[in-house]
Amino acid sequence: MPIPTMPDEKMRKALKELEQAAYNHEQWAEMIYGTLICRLTPDQRDIGDDAHRMCRFGQWYYKDGMTELEHHPGVAEIGLEHERMHQHAARLLRASVSGDRIEIGDFERFVTAVKRLRLELATVQRELADALFNLDPLTGTRSRTSMLTSLREQRELVKRGVQPCALAMMDLDHFKAINDKYGHAAGDKVLIGFARHIIMHLRPYDKIFRFGGEEFLIFMPDADLKAGHDIVDRLREELGSLRFDANGKEIFQVTVSFGLTLLDPDIPVEQSIDRADNALYVAKAMGRNRVIAWNDSMSASPAASV
Ligand code: GH3
Ligand code: MG
Ligand code: MG
Repeated sequence: MPIPTMPDEKMRKALKELEQAAYNHEQWAEMIYGTLICRLTPDQRDIGDDAHRMCRFGQWYYKDGMTELEHHPGVAEIGLEHERMHQHAARLLRASVSGDRIEIGDFERFVTAVKRLRLELATVQRELADALFNLDPLTGTRSRTSMLTSLREQRELVKRGVQPCALAMMDLDHFKAINDKYGHAAGDKVLIGFARHIIMHLRPYDKIFRFGGEEFLIFMPDADLKAGHDIVDRLREELGSLRFDANGKEIFQVTVSFGLTLLDPDIPVEQSIDRADNALYVAKAMGRNRVIAWNDSMSASPAASV
């Protein structure tokens, strides 16, 4: 599940809080070890059942931080691990204060919880950083910066026969006329709505990049031409039936065309992109609102410039 699109400022704040949480909890865990070993008097906030809500991260996490992110599985898992870790610590500290024997099992569970929280935090931090630096700010799709790297990695898998990969170039039909008729802001709403729909409906390992203004490149690992065709043809139908309103008055719809090909392991990825683009050109010439697969009778001259 991708990180949802949210304002950069909020994303930066979340990233900062997670970095801070990772650092603070490393320090905190060391302090807990010291308290236990030296039998020091613990901080009362670490003993309560709500200890996980008392630390700085807990206060942020439960009060204001996570509205857009709370359904993301990694973020939910951070909350659970964080709570679990504080509960294990509280149990150890209570045993220490009352002079009871500390069970090795309890201690190990605490150590494991610290490690698991570290891993969960690092995972979401990486996803947020990726979203912040590699996503197109308008549509939330991936920006072109990481496109070739991703495609080249995918090409290696195809080359080793691990899996095929279908590649589709999508372009909105008569989009200039939409902007001219309803205004640029309405056009932006279409781009955002389409991108959101595609992101929600692609398989988790598919990727969509904003290739240019109203052109998007989608690649679908583990899909042959038939599977790729099924996926994008379904998207074409769904996108074409989405309804947009212009200034609350007029309802309009926009169709899309796709050029489709397989990522060919024997040619540079740029040439596979050209093939998808050439097939798109044919889809446009044939009347738009359709998916056309590349074949070698189509122009070999590069239509896309990367
Ligand atoms: P075709 O069916 O042949 O693709 O026709 P088209 O009008 O979609 O193609 P054309 O290349 O003539 O126009 C693309 C339009 O996309 C022109 C440009 O203003 C618009 N566009 C590109 N990026 C954005 C954007 O970020 N927001 C908005 N609102 N429009 C954009
Ligand atoms: Mg267009
Ligand atoms: Mg275009």
